[in-house]
Amino acid sequence: MSTLLDQLNASLDTSSLILGDDISDKYFADWSGADPCAPAALLKPKTTDELSTIMALCHKHNQPVVVQGGLTGLAGGATPKAGEFAISLERMSAIEEIDTTAMTLTAHAGTPLQVLQEAAAEHDLFLPLDLGARGSCMIGGNIATNAGGTEVIRYGMTRSMVLGLEAVLADGTVISSMNKMVKNNSGYDLKHLFIGSEGTLGIVTRVVLQLQPKSRSSHTALCALNSYESVTQLLIELKRNLGSGLTGFELMWDSYYDKVMEVVPSLTSPFAEAHPFYLLVEYKDNDETSGNQRFESILFAQLEAGLLTDAVIAQSHQDAATFWQIRDGIGELFQVLGPVSNQDVSLPVTEIGAFAEDLDQRLKAKYPNIGVLLFGHIGDNNLHVCAYTGREEDKRRINEDIMLMIGEYSGAITAEHGIGVLKRDFLPLSRTDSEIALMKTIKLAMDPKNILNPGRVI
Ligand SMILES: Cc1cc2nc3c(=O)[nH]c(=O)nc-3n(C[C@H](O)[C@H](O)[C@H](O)COP(=O)(O)OP(=O)(O)OC[C@H]3O[C@@H](n4cnc5c(N)ncnc54)[C@H](O)[C@@H]3O)c2cc1C
Repeated sequence: MSTLLDQLNASLDTSSLILGDDISDKYFADWSGADPCAPAALLKPKTTDELSTIMALCHKHNQPVVVQGGLTGLAGGATPKAGEFAISLERMSAIEEIDTTAMTLTAHAGTPLQVLQEAAAEHDLFLPLDLGARGSCMIGGNIATNAGGTEVIRYGMTRSMVLGLEAVLADGTVISSMNKMVKNNSGYDLKHLFIGSEGTLGIVTRVVLQLQPKSRSSHTALCALNSYESVTQLLIELKRNLGSGLTGFELMWDSYYDKVMEVVPSLTSPFAEAHPFYLLVEYKDNDETSGNQRFESILFAQLEAGLLTDAVIAQSHQDAATFWQIRDGIGELFQVLGPVSNQDVSLPVTEIGAFAEDLDQRLKAKYPNIGVLLFGHIGDNNLHVCAYTGREEDKRRINEDIMLMIGEYSGAITAEHGIGVLKRDFLPLSRTDSEIALMKTIKLAMDPKNILNPGRVI
C-alpha cells in the first residue's frame, strides 16, 4: 500500500490525502451508524482530474474504495470496510451555471442539496427534490441513491430530473454525458447506469438538473380518516380534482402520530378526537386566492362525502410548517426510541393497508412490548416502518421478518433508501435471478477488479 500512498502523495495536493488519526470519525459510517470503520486513507479530491488520477492509481494497485457524499445514507453503503480508502466528494462543491431559459442547473456532485434548492429559488425556479437530510446530503449522493422524498407524487424521483452527468469509472476514465436536452436518443442513455447504482458503477462528479417554474402559492392541510380504504379513495379524488397540483400525500398511522405527539413537546394535535389515520396533503397553484378556494372546496366535498372525518387547513406558513414538523418528527423519535429497525419499502397502493395490519399483528405476536410506527409517501407506494423493542439484538431479527414479509407480498425491499450493505442479502426477495445476473455482468464490465464500493448492492 505504501507504493500506492507514495504515488498518491506525489500526484495530489497535500490537503487531498489524509491518513491515520488525522481522519475524523465522521467518515467512519453513514447515518445508519451500522458497523463504523476507519478507512485506510481518506481522499478529498477538488477536481474531476484529481479524482480520475486517484482512481487510475487505485485501479492499478487493486485498491478498493468507498465513495462518500453527505453520509446521510441509511443503507450502510458509504460506510468504509476494513482496508478501503474513502473518497469524499465534499470539496467538489460548486454551481457552474443556472440557465433560466432552459431551466437547468449545472453543479458539482459534492454540492449540498439545500444549496442547490436555494440557488434555484433565487432565480424564481424550483428544484423538485426535497428530503429531511437536505442540509447535509449532496446531489451526487442523491443521484447515486435515486433519492425520493416528499414531491415524488408530482415530479418523480431524482432520476426524472437528471438531464446529464459526468462520472469517473473504476479505472479513472471520465465519462462526460453533460446533456442539457430533454430529447436525446443518440445511443444508450448512459446516465441511467449511475443513477440509483449506489456508487458501484462510477463516481458522479458533475450533473445537469432540470428545474421547474416556482409555484406562486402552496396550500397544506392535515386530515383525519377512518380507514385505509378512505385513504386510497381520497387519493383518487385528489388526483382527479387537483391534477398535477397535488404535491404531497403523506399518511401517518395513529401509532406514529401519537408517538410524535408524546415525544415532541412543541407539538399538539389540532384534532379534539383521536383517529386511526392522519394525512398531510399539499397542493400547489399559481394563484393564492383561487388556489385556496379550490383546495378548500375539494376538501369540504370530501368531508361531506364522508371520506374525511376531519380536516384542518393551514392558515399561515407557520401552520404548514407545524404540520410538516409532525410528518418529519421521525428524526426526533430516533433520538429516544433506542435501537430501531428502520425500513423503507414499496407495495402496490391497494395492498399497503392490509400489509401494515398484517405486519403489526405478526410483529406484536412475536416480540412482547414491541412498538410499530407506520407512515409513508403513500401516493408513491412507499411505506416506512419503524419497529423497536429497546433491545439491539432484536433489530436484526425484526429487519429480517419485515424483509421476508415484503417478499411474500411481492413488494420492493427498498423504495428510496437503497440496498447498500444492510439489504444486500435480501435482494433476491425483490429481484429475479436473471435480473441479478445481469446486474453482475454490468458490474463486471465496468469494474472488473471490483474496487468500487465492493460488496454494496450485489
Ligand atoms: C433525516 C433523514 C431523512 C431522509 N429522508 C429521505 C427521503 O425522504 N428520501 C430518500 O430517498 N432518502 C432519504 N434519506 C436518505 C439519504 O438522505 C439519501 O439516501 C441521500 O440521497 C444520500 O445522499 P448522501 O450525499 O448523504 O450520500 P451518502 O450517504 O454519502 O452515500 C449514499 C450512497 O451513494 C454513494 N455515493 C455518494 N456520493 C456519490 C457520488 N458522487 N457518486 C457515486 N456514488 C456516490 C455512496 O457510496 C453510498 O453508496 C434521509 C436520510 C436522513 C438522515
